[in-house]
Amino acid sequence: TIDPASDLAIAQSARLQPIEAIAAALNIPPEALYRYGPYKAKIPLDLATSAMAAPRGKLVLVTAISPTPAGEGKTTTSIGLGDALRRQGVNVAICLREPSLGPCFGAKGGATGGGQAQVGPMSEINLHFTGDLHAISAAHNLLAAMIDNHIYWGNTLNLDTRRLTWRRTVDLNDRALRDIVTGLGGPGNGAPRQTGYDITAASEVMAILCLAESLADLEQRLGDIVIGRDMNKRLVRARELNATGAMAALLRDALAPNLAQTLEGTPAFIHGGPFANIAQGCNSVIATKTALGLAGYVITEAGFGADLGAEKFLDIKCRKAGLAPAACVVVATVRALKMHGGVALHELASEHVEAVRAGCANLLRHAGNMRKYGLPVVVAINRFTADTQAELAAVEAACAAAGIRVVACNHWAEGGAGALELASAVRELCDTPSEFRLLYPDEMPLEEKIRTVAQQIYGATEVSFEPAAAQQLREFTSAGFAALPVCMAKTQYSFSADPTLRGAPDHFSINIREIRLAAGAQFVVAFCGEILTMPGLPRHPAAERIFLDAQGNISGLS
Ligand code: ADP
Ligand code: MG
Repeated sequence: TIDPASDLAIAQSARLQPIEAIAAALNIPPEALYRYGPYKAKIPLDLATSAMAAPRGKLVLVTAISPTPAGEGKTTTSIGLGDALRRQGVNVAICLREPSLGPCFGAKGGATGGGQAQVGPMSEINLHFTGDLHAISAAHNLLAAMIDNHIYWGNTLNLDTRRLTWRRTVDLNDRALRDIVTGLGGPGNGAPRQTGYDITAASEVMAILCLAESLADLEQRLGDIVIGRDMNKRLVRARELNATGAMAALLRDALAPNLAQTLEGTPAFIHGGPFANIAQGCNSVIATKTALGLAGYVITEAGFGADLGAEKFLDIKCRKAGLAPAACVVVATVRALKMHGGVALHELASEHVEAVRAGCANLLRHAGNMRKYGLPVVVAINRFTADTQAELAAVEAACAAAGIRVVACNHWAEGGAGALELASAVRELCDTPSEFRLLYPDEMPLEEKIRTVAQQIYGATEVSFEPAAAQQLREFTSAGFAALPVCMAKTQYSFSADPTLRGAPDHFSINIREIRLAAGAQFVVAFCGEILTMPGLPRHPAAERIFLDAQGNISGLS
């Protein structure tokens, strides 16, 4: 039996509209859709391309405070805001990331929103959706197979098997695959070498798919992937293995954006889902630009807190795609602010006004950072039922004192009706002239770019580079990659590199351990500490509580 108040119960009792009706709101004729059952469709690339050519919508970024186990609700708020705008008669589309199976079966659960603010069909979107993540995994693993096959048949490229950086991928949390040895079992199976798996969200193919603007761009970027080095330490590209055409073929349909709907019938593009630490953390450029061509307002979410997701959305995605957001929503919850103010997870149920006040330091630094990009900002307090009036008032007072607009919203409980005030605030912000600017110019040296993000966004006093990282920076600079943006891989739980430092820590330094090149995605990844690219499952994963009955009904997805 399903708890009637659960996200899944709400999702299953909702009556979804045929996808043709959702498409009609965006002036997409039914015959243009490429359908996956009654409620999901892809927008064919030719239609997407013509929509992309004539952008008319205003782009609104939804980001958040530093995540805590208490939850923030960026996806839920993006959906609630979209539904509220639609209730106000605005032509709106939402752009979200595709859920990964890792968190679905792990600790966090699905990524289709919550309460009355959800997208559907919920279990389909959370599980296989339109198969994009499988296509990405297949394309990624095809390249890996072709690398080992090349070595097996004589290694004419003279690949250095100790310096191959292209790993394998699967869309599950499986810590046993982090470090593995392949090629065991004798000469017929190739030569043993050490490698490993990353989750599909961390695959460079995912990052590429989400930044590519056409099939030609996709194929070019796939060819640009650096798979490792040869015995002379030369960087070797995927195109040298003749892998690019087949990879692009596998990805042809995956590049087309997916259309779904909120429970209230608002169009929702759900396409691509890269990590927000080692990659750009937001949905595809193609989906965002298609939505901007079809709707007056486009609401999109960036992963983790604003120091990671929003910074990358702005400095990587917007920079590369020439996008300029009109406004920014920073989501906070009283519960999470309490944790930033020092309250433990098991004590969140009781009132702690002082802790909320202290925790606002985290919110205000993020909101202030968004202003550095010239964006008008509104703080959305995503209300939980246990929040008290005094706690809400503390957040409002802290924002008011900093001159930042703040709106409490109740979309989780009420759907779009609970976010009407937020919608009005967002429309007003979108009507004020925005002076969007990037944090750093392309010409800034890589090392300076890293310093700029660490100091301007994180608040670090110092940035140091370990010798290996300094060496890699010199190599990538002299190899012609100096103009790329940097993608900072840092813990999402703190402005610093220490996940236990909640709130808004001061006087910390950021130490860069390693630099990796994502030549196909066109950014340079700077690692500030250990970042897992293959998560593990918790002691009791969500998968233990998911069931299927004889009629085919799924329970336990959240
Ligand atoms: P994010 O996008 O920031 O990771 P989500 O929107 O996916 O967060 O929300 C995470 C979880 O928290 C979801 O399961 C959702 O149902 C729940 N949630 C979000 N907002 C609320 C709320 N106001 N009250 C209760 N639960 C909520
Ligand atoms: Mg989310």
